[in-house]
Amino acid sequence: MSHTVEILSVGTELLLGSIANTDAQMLSQGLSELGLNVYWHTVVGDNPIRAREAVALAKSRADIIITTGGLGPTCDDLTKNVLAEAFGKKLVFHEPSAERIRSYFQRTKRPMPESNMQQAMLPEGCTVLDNDWGTAPGCAFEADGVHVIMLPGPPSECRPMFHYRAKPYLLSLSEGVIASHTLKLFGIGESAMEEQLREQMSHMSNPTLAPYAKEGECELRVTAKADTDEAAQALLQPTVEQIRQLFGSKVYGVDVTSLEQVVQTILEEKGMTIGTAESITGGLLAKRLTDLPGVSRVFKGGIVSYTNEVKRGVLGVPEDMLAEYGAVSAPVAEAMARGARRALGVDVALAATGVAGPDKDDRGNEVGTAFVAIDTPEGSYVRALNLGNRPMRQRLRTQTAHHAFDLARRYLTGLPYED
Ligand code: ATP
Repeated sequence: MSHTVEILSVGTELLLGSIANTDAQMLSQGLSELGLNVYWHTVVGDNPIRAREAVALAKSRADIIITTGGLGPTCDDLTKNVLAEAFGKKLVFHEPSAERIRSYFQRTKRPMPESNMQQAMLPEGCTVLDNDWGTAPGCAFEADGVHVIMLPGPPSECRPMFHYRAKPYLLSLSEGVIASHTLKLFGIGESAMEEQLREQMSHMSNPTLAPYAKEGECELRVTAKADTDEAAQALLQPTVEQIRQLFGSKVYGVDVTSLEQVVQTILEEKGMTIGTAESITGGLLAKRLTDLPGVSRVFKGGIVSYTNEVKRGVLGVPEDMLAEYGAVSAPVAEAMARGARRALGVDVALAATGVAGPDKDDRGNEVGTAFVAIDTPEGSYVRALNLGNRPMRQRLRTQTAHHAFDLARRYLTGLPYED
């Protein structure tokens, strides 16, 4: 049976816009990975009348209701009271939960307000979801053909409670095995990707496809359910293959974490080394590489050549080139990469130069103008970027770094630099 899920977030702060509903976002992502269809997100304030109405509506249309928030003593345990009432359940005192709450306060060396004991009142017959990350336990029960799961609001509790408590409960609802693969794409926007898949996605039920956009990259999670892992894999493979065909070289890996991880793996396989010369990214390329365990086997070092002086003195970018084209230009990016390959003694060097803003540079280059270059034993290549002029330095740097790693990945796998 395919389940339909409603996420019901309780909290006046959400309605006031004081906080964003990140719990619902996190849950939606996690649930679609499980192949569950999330059809509704509802937000209701700490108001019992409206909360009752929201629960009645959710009960009428979803067969899994997941609530967040409203489990604390400050809001009179609104969520538990309203849900228990809607499903005709009494709240009963759960001594093991009370003991966990007491020892939580002991551990954190804080006096326990008596009102916290309310958190140990739970719907009769429920499965208690122990909270190792805070005080309010969650709970799950089935009544009137609907599964109800209640999770605490603070994201630092909601996230682990979902992964370690609610997920196993949800998996136990479905017989068989759920397996998934994540395809990572670079060089295509989320809307362009979705447009090409929309028709297909609307007809898919097993496997399902869930697209995500992540800081200039896209992900497609393919999830299948079957009796055995083998059968689930057999369902997944044709779709994974089809997506690879559809998006070609834009797919940079399956079940990999990042572009730089792919670059590291191939460098290691080939016994090659890499180094960087960075202006706009200010060390981000080197940072991202050095975040990878074991990268010292392939990454020799990086030069942050922010000023022309360093571009000239350390990387050997010719003075007249800097004067003629300016630091943000294709010839300088290429010369930076060449200089880094020479200075660092590496097989492959990446370079990045550009305008991160908030203002144009002194040559009138717009914010978001950038050049990434690669130098290799087979020659060099420069990609010119126009990343838009929204003054978000971090976003521009992240995108520029993605492009630099994309050049390395393309070179190392024998793909053309551009499609
Ligand atoms: P507590 O036991 O800490 O009171 P609770 O389960 O009752 O937790 P709330 O009181 O509703 O949760 O919210 C506690 C805090 O958690 C809020 O102030 C807010 O910072 C955060 N929070 C609540 N709901 C959400 C949500 N949907 N998304 C993101 N943050 C949330």
